[in-house]
Parts: sequence; structure tokens; C-alpha cells
Amino acid sequence: MSKRDYYDVLGVERGADEKALKSAYRKLAMKFHPDQNPGDKAAEDKFKEVGEAYSVLSDAQKRAAYDRFGHAAFENGGGAGGGSPFGQGVNPEDIFQDLFSQVFGGGGGFAGARKRGGPQRGADLRYDLEITLAEAYFGKDETIHVPQAVACKPCDGTGAAPGTKPETCETCAGHGRVRAQQGFFTMERTCHICQGRGTVIRKPCKTCGGAGQVKEERQISVKIPAGVESGMRIRLTGEGEPGTAGGPKGDLYIFVEVVEHDIFERDGPNLYCRAPVPMATAALGGEIEIPTIDGGRARVAIPEGAQTGRKLRLRGKGMPSVRQGNPQGDLYVEMFVETPQNLSPRQKELLRQFCDCSGADCHPESEGFLGRIKRFWGGHEGDEKRPS
Ligand SMILES: [Zn+2]
Ligand SMILES: [Zn+2]
Repeated sequence: MSKRDYYDVLGVERGADEKALKSAYRKLAMKFHPDQNPGDKAAEDKFKEVGEAYSVLSDAQKRAAYDRFGHAAFENGGGAGGGSPFGQGVNPEDIFQDLFSQVFGGGGGFAGARKRGGPQRGADLRYDLEITLAEAYFGKDETIHVPQAVACKPCDGTGAAPGTKPETCETCAGHGRVRAQQGFFTMERTCHICQGRGTVIRKPCKTCGGAGQVKEERQISVKIPAGVESGMRIRLTGEGEPGTAGGPKGDLYIFVEVVEHDIFERDGPNLYCRAPVPMATAALGGEIEIPTIDGGRARVAIPEGAQTGRKLRLRGKGMPSVRQGNPQGDLYVEMFVETPQNLSPRQKELLRQFCDCSGADCHPESEGFLGRIKRFWGGHEGDEKRPS
């Protein structure tokens, strides 16, 4: 099944700014929201589709990756992520609620708002990882250190001193919200005694000060797949922050950045490099040796009379693909003929002798160029002295 273009899904131009995206998304999400279309599977799929499109395009990094690689940007790039830029734990309703809570100033505001006080999924974490091109070639087992909040052990994450338990808040009777009469209106607001949790801690845990969480640096090993590209993400399910009230853990996203290489430029699976070829080698033909990204070297045959800009392809000497079954890329070597410098008097003399040979066959480019100049000047021939 082919996926629709995200810009088409939202009906916006490719250059649409944040505002246009948000407004397009808001309209469509309202229209297709399941509460508005009970039991309508097609509307539900639309709702998911626009949520997915918006989640990608509203995130500068994801959008850049999408613009460059299309849907492929999110395929297989990350662990269990497969196929969707949504983590499996992220649901379109959450994006919807996030946007609408901004719009409506935190009040929820739409039918079927996320229920309060219930289990909440832990936050996702982002970790930026820089690797070299050679590491991207081979793949890498990396140990990363991620500072993150973990459930406090002594209190088992409750925040209450060991042996005690959080108690139901008396002010709000555990609802987390209280009603207050203000003029004609009945306002509902977050209970300020329990800050909406519905429970209060009489005796806070000494280790975490009642927060239920402590910061800890965790060591996590990550398998960076061979062929990884800048902008790809690797998702480690359940390695994010712990949830609250028994909610599931968030995910950890590794954002990979492959640093630029001194010699090779990369475009997808292919590598490009420029290699100097001595003038004599270019004229007579020969061989040059160039490095390859796997640490080896390759000998490249230079054909007789080769010119600057000539590209030679070394099949299979490019990058592997993270997608299984895709062939390895190629290495393209663009040669440039290097003009010799600091010549000895003898070498100069030999070159002067060589210059005498500048017949018509010797310098085809110059011949063609001179011909064009003559036509440009109006076809006077024979008058100009041909430069040697
Ligand atoms: Zn309360
Ligand atoms: Zn504690």
C-alpha cells in the first residue's frame, strides 16, 4: 500500500509555514475526529493520516528528513519503528490533544478529552548521536549515557516515605479538580492542594523529596545499523522516562548525525570523491590509488588522454543500505588533472619541447574552443595567431 504525500494529506504547499500547517491540520482533525464521526472507520483512518502527516511536518527535523527522502526517511531507520514515524506508543489522539490544549489554553476543550489523573505514559527522550562515516559504513555498537528520571526505589515511585502511602486529597475528594462559583459561572479548576493529582503525601520520601522520581544516568547499548544516514532515528521502545500512576514508559529516540568526511561526500548509498591525477598519467594513461571507506584502497585505471571531470565508477564501493536486500552503493571518483609546479630547469625545457607538438589532434578541447571563438567573432579565419 502506497502512502500519500504528507503535504497532499494536509492540502498545503511544500513551503507551508508552521501556521499554515497548524491551521490545515486543525480543520481536518476537527472534521475527521472520531467523536464527530462515531463508528466511521474511514473517518478514523483519515484522522490518523492527518495526525501522522502533521506530526512529521510540524517537527523541523522530521520534516527535513521527509523532504529529502520521502516516506523512506522513516522506514527501517529505527529499531522497532518500522514504517511509521509514530512510535507505536504515540497515538494520533495525543497529538490532537497536544495541539488543542495549546489552542484552548490547557482546558482540553474538545469532547472526549484525555482523562485526568489516570495513568500517563512517560515522556519520550531524545539523544543526539554523532558518528563518523566509517562508523556508519560498518555499523556500531554504542554505549550511551542518558540522564533520565527513574522511579525512586525506596518509595517505589509513590513519593511517600517507605511504610506510608499517598492519601486521597480531602479538598477535591480525589478528583484533582474543584468547582468554584464565580458570578454566573461555575469554574472548574485544578485543585491547588494536590495540584490535580488527587492524592497528597503526608510524609514525603527522603530520597526523592516526594517527587517519586530521581535523576539517574543510565547506560544503554544501542546497535547502530550499517548504512545509517543523517536524520535517521533509532527508537528504543520503553527506554524513555517512566510513566506516572502505572502508565507505560516512554521511548528513547536516537537521532543520528553522520559527520562530514574529509575525502568522501555521500549522497544516499553512493560516495563521491575527487582525486588528483598527475598530468603525465592523464596523458599517457596509468593507474592511481585511492582510499575506500572500508579502510582499504583501490587501484583505478586512468585511460590514456583522460580529462579533468571524468568520472570513474567503482561498483559496490559505496555505503551499505540499512534496508535489507538493497545493494551496496558505488564510489564515484571524479578525476582532476593536476598541473605540475616547482619544475626544474630540465623539466621546463622538456615541457617547452612538448609544446611544439600542439597539433590539431593533441588538444581536442582547445581546438573545439577556438572554433567556437572564431564563429563568435564572425568567422574570420587565418588572421588570428593560434596560441601554442
Ligand atoms: Zn486535591
Ligand atoms: Zn522516593
